[in-house]
Amino acid sequence: MRDKENKKIVLPVIMLLLFLSVGVVLWLTRNNIFYLFNFGYIGISLSAAVYLFQRRYKNARKVSMLLIGLYMLVFLGFIKRENMQIEGFWYYLFSGTFEAAVIHYLVAKIAGPLIFGRGWCGYACWTAMVLDFLPFKKSGGRRKGLGWIRYAVFISSLLFTAAVFILDIRDKDRIMFLAFVVGNVIYYITGIALAFVFRDNRAFCKYICPVTVFLKPVSRYSLIRIKCDGEKCVGCGKCRDVCPMDVDMLDLSRNRKNGTECILCMECVRNCPKGAL
Ligand code: SF4
Ligand code: SF4
Ligand code: SF4
Repeated sequence: MRDKENKKIVLPVIMLLLFLSVGVVLWLTRNNIFYLFNFGYIGISLSAAVYLFQRRYKNARKVSMLLIGLYMLVFLGFIKRENMQIEGFWYYLFSGTFEAAVIHYLVAKIAGPLIFGRGWCGYACWTAMVLDFLPFKKSGGRRKGLGWIRYAVFISSLLFTAAVFILDIRDKDRIMFLAFVVGNVIYYITGIALAFVFRDNRAFCKYICPVTVFLKPVSRYSLIRIKCDGEKCVGCGKCRDVCPMDVDMLDLSRNRKNGTECILCMECVRNCPKGAL
């Protein structure tokens, strides 16, 4: 019994140490202690969520989304006025500044997904933080012919930021802050509208979100992924039924259907009656 309880601590502690290490490295290399606070806070939030999940608290993931999502949206975005959206990433990249959104994208959306896949989407995203409270938790299915929209949004964000530099618009920081506010309003309105139209909380993630252009190819090779134990599985299909992202988690291959859509929400794991996932 005590052994079981101890095991529940191991993963949260490893996660916390991982984030603290990133924070310490950035603190020392960038000479800015804020990174320690930033990654320490995110690490504590995620570790708490994992611990609560292991203790079968069903809203564990939402706790993490609220803690991290609100921190990034309100504190980093509105108070510190850092554009953490995709156009902010281009902006800091074009400015040659290895700070804020560039580090955020590298850790959460470009390199990190090699380890934790689309964990960002399941535990931290401030857009999905709101969408996940809507009533359509199961997938509303897939609409064909809409996958191109994410690429159009991706390219638009790149062109917008390039235009800010090419036209040498004055007060770029203010423009980027306005872009952050307006962009978020548009994302929330579109995301909520799509959720109701398609009866699917995650419709925005499936068709519109430009960040998936980074997330999807990298998460294909994610170290952490849902696997099925064929010995235990009785083929009841409950896991597929509850998956919000239409993943074929019974297929073990990297090419499984919608494999790069998995947000590690653990709904399939929680609902499998045989503990096969
Ligand atoms: S797909 Fe985009 S909107 Fe959806 S959770 Fe991921 S980053 Fe957020
Ligand atoms: S819910 Fe579990 S037992 Fe049922 S099909 Fe999925 S993995 Fe197999
Ligand atoms: S239900 Fe399972 S397969 Fe589907 S997104 Fe969540 S963790 Fe991934």
